[in-house]
Amino acid sequence: MTTYDIIIGTGAGGGTLAHQLAPTGKRILILERGDFLPQEKENWNPESVYQKSRYYTHEEKWMDKAGEEFSPQTCYWVGGNAKVYGSALLRLRERDFETGQHKSGISPAWPLKYRDFEPYYAQAEKLFDVHGQRGEDPTEPPASGDYPYPPALHEPAMQKIANNIKAEGYHPFHLPVGLKLSEIDKTLSQCIRCDTCDGYPCLVHGKADSDVNCIRPTRHLDNVTLLTGAKVTRLHTDASGREVNAVSVEMSVEMSVEIGNR
Ligand SMILES: Cc1cc2nc3c(=O)[nH]c(=O)nc-3n(C[C@H](O)[C@H](O)[C@H](O)COP(=O)(O)OP(=O)(O)OC[C@H]3O[C@@H](n4cnc5c(N)ncnc54)[C@H](O)[C@@H]3O)c2cc1C
Ligand code: SF4
Repeated sequence: MTTYDIIIGTGAGGGTLAHQLAPTGKRILILERGDFLPQEKENWNPESVYQKSRYYTHEEKWMDKAGEEFSPQTCYWVGGNAKVYGSALLRLRERDFETGQHKSGISPAWPLKYRDFEPYYAQAEKLFDVHGQRGEDPTEPPASGDYPYPPALHEPAMQKIANNIKAEGYHPFHLPVGLKLSEIDKTLSQCIRCDTCDGYPCLVHGKADSDVNCIRPTRHLDNVTLLTGAKVTRLHTDASGREVNAVSVEMSVEMSVEIGNR
C-alpha cells in the first residue's frame, strides 16, 4: 500500500502547508472536497456573486445554536475561502497573544507570542506577494524587514482623503494586500486593479490566494498528488486515539476509499 502524508483542504492553511512541505520530497496527498473554481465572466458579476451567491456552497446547511438551519457563506474550492477573500493581509498585534477580557469572557494568553510567529509572518508575506508600507500604521507590530513589495497606490480620490485626514493628525495607512501587482510595469501585472475584489473570485488570477500561490506551483511535482472532489468524512486514529493513521474519503464520483497515511 502506498502511504502518504495527508493534507485535508487547500485553503490558506492547507495550501500554505502543502507549499512548504512539497520541497521536502515527502509523499504528499492533498484531499480537497471542491474543484478548481472556474474562470468565467460571472467571477466579476455582482449579481452572480452577491445576490445569487454563486461561489458559496448551496448543498450544505449548518445549524445555529438554536438548531435553526442556515446557509453558511463558505466556499468549497481549491483555495478555499481565499478564492473570495479581500487580500488584506495584516499581522496580529503583540497584544492579541496576551490575555484579553471580552464582553463574553476571557480569552486566555497564547503559549506562543508574537515574536515566535514573526519569522513565519515574514515568510508568509513573501509567499503571498504582500504589498505594503512599514512605519505608517502606528499599531503595527515589530517586523524583521520591509514588505516584499511597495504599497498598492491609493486611487486619486482616496489619496486626497488620506492627505486630508493626515493633515488632521490621524494616521491613514496603505492596507497590506496580497496581489500579483506591478504598478511600475503594467505588462508584468496580473492584477489589473478592477473594481471588484473583496468577495469576488479574481478572473485574471491577480489575487495572491492559496490556489494560485500555493497549490498550482506544486502540481508539477511527482511527490505531490492532489485529489479534488475528495471529501474527508472520517479520521481514523491508532489505539492511543492521539494519532490519525487513516482517513475515509467520499469521492464526488460516488466512490468511497480508505487511505492510510502511515
Ligand atoms: C468574503 C471574504 C473575504 C475575506 N477577506 C479576508 C481578508 O481580506 N483578509 C484575511 O486575512 N482574511 C479574509 N477572509 C478570511 C479568509 O479567507 C479565511 O480566514 C481563510 O481563507 C481561512 O483559511 P482556512 O484554510 O482556515 O479555511 P478555508 O479557506 O475554509 O479552507 C478549507 C478548505 O478545506 C476544504 N474542505 C473543507 N472540508 C473538507 C473535507 N471534509 N474534506 C476535504 N476538503 C475539505 C474546503 O473546500 C477548503 O478548500 C475573508 C473571507 C471571506 C469569505
Ligand atoms: S484584478 Fe486585482 S483588483 Fe481585480 S479581482 Fe483581481 S486581484 Fe482583485
